[in-house]
Amino acid sequence: MSLSYWEKSTLSEHDLIVVGGGIVGMSTALHYQIKHPKSSVAIIERGLFPSGASTKNAGFACFGSISELSEDLESTSQDNLLALIESRYKGALQLRNLLGDSEIGYKPEGGFELDFTGHTHEQIDRFNELLKPLFNADVFSNVTPAIKDFGFRADKVKGLIKNTFEGSIDTGKMVRAFQRKCAESGVHFYNQTTVLGYEELASSAKLSVQVGIEKVTLAAQQIAFCTNAFSKSLLPDLDLKPGRGMVLVTKPVKGFSLQGTFHYHGGYHYFRGVGNRLLLGGGRQLDLPGETTTEQGINDTIFSQLQQDVHDFIAPGKDLEIDYAWSGVMAFGANKKPIIQRVSPRISVAARLGGMGIAIGTRVGAELAELLDDLQGI
Ligand SMILES: Cc1cc2nc3c(=O)[nH]c(=O)nc-3n(C[C@H](O)[C@H](O)[C@H](O)COP(=O)(O)OP(=O)(O)OC[C@H]3O[C@@H](n4cnc5c(N)ncnc54)[C@H](O)[C@@H]3O)c2cc1C
Repeated sequence: MSLSYWEKSTLSEHDLIVVGGGIVGMSTALHYQIKHPKSSVAIIERGLFPSGASTKNAGFACFGSISELSEDLESTSQDNLLALIESRYKGALQLRNLLGDSEIGYKPEGGFELDFTGHTHEQIDRFNELLKPLFNADVFSNVTPAIKDFGFRADKVKGLIKNTFEGSIDTGKMVRAFQRKCAESGVHFYNQTTVLGYEELASSAKLSVQVGIEKVTLAAQQIAFCTNAFSKSLLPDLDLKPGRGMVLVTKPVKGFSLQGTFHYHGGYHYFRGVGNRLLLGGGRQLDLPGETTTEQGINDTIFSQLQQDVHDFIAPGKDLEIDYAWSGVMAFGANKKPIIQRVSPRISVAARLGGMGIAIGTRVGAELAELLDDLQGI
């Protein structure tokens, strides 16, 4: 592309370029821009919308169901688990405080775990005790009698446990509120622009980007990669694996409504109401090799199982029909801690948020923005 003098100079040069316009990229850019109002900060996003996980998720502001947390305790200490829960709970509070509950459609309706064994409630006291120092109240309660009120099939769903501190957000509103706040603070957005590679020089870092069929080089003092599952194509040494997740939504049904967020099978499956539709997803564990991919797509095996669950025990007899499905891609690693690090003097990264980006994404971005302040070595 032949660029003008202005395009080649002022318009192509930034103090910070953040690659990836998801929750983490927007939080990084926003926190850095607020702290450095005179700096030129830009976000580069390859999609029309952020096209990884941040606009594809289910909108649960959660920190783990009892069966998920007890599985975690098999591989980590109680102290580590408590620290993980604290980072998720306080991280969600940070998102809510930053953007405002009404702006993100936050609903504090509680989360529920469906139990097929009839024994999970036996762990309620143990986890309430463990979480007392953090919440100063009982987090979990046995609400098994409510199974009938929700219309679940009572001979399959044998127990129901409520988590009072869980809530849901409207993911679309959250992304829009983040974008608005970034723009108001002065962050520039380049959408439908794909980063192909970077080069680190003594005085700056260069990014080669593609817009349509055109290739352009941009320059920045620092580059922050917030590309989560897609990071390995740019930073091959990063320790992460992609994990695709699927979501289905039913056609609207007059009078249908479901309040709260719901999990089953160790947190791998989840559902909630959106308007007068049912939204459900997960089930990655049914085909882990097939879902270890950065490609978007619908896995037929998982689709069929989720569809069956709707009729089998979530809304039996309600004749809910699947309207459409979509996928999103997360990133996982050997442990549940995100990667937030400077990989070389001008290049940093924040990635690997697992299925908890709503809870921890804002904080991860804020931490990366702080790391960007430390320019020693440049
Ligand atoms: C189906 C599904 C359901 C989920 N449900 C929940 C939930 O209920 N609660 C919860 O807390 N979390 C949930 N998550 C996880 C959560 O959405 C993620 O942890 C979070 O969105 C990750 O944010 P991110 O900014 O790190 O990554 P992303 O949102 O993936 O952002 C990375 C961005 O980088 C862009 N990018 C990549 N490569 C390039 C390139 N070369 N050039 C330019 N741009 C590039 C991508 O397009 C993408 O927009 C879910 C995820 C999925 C997929």
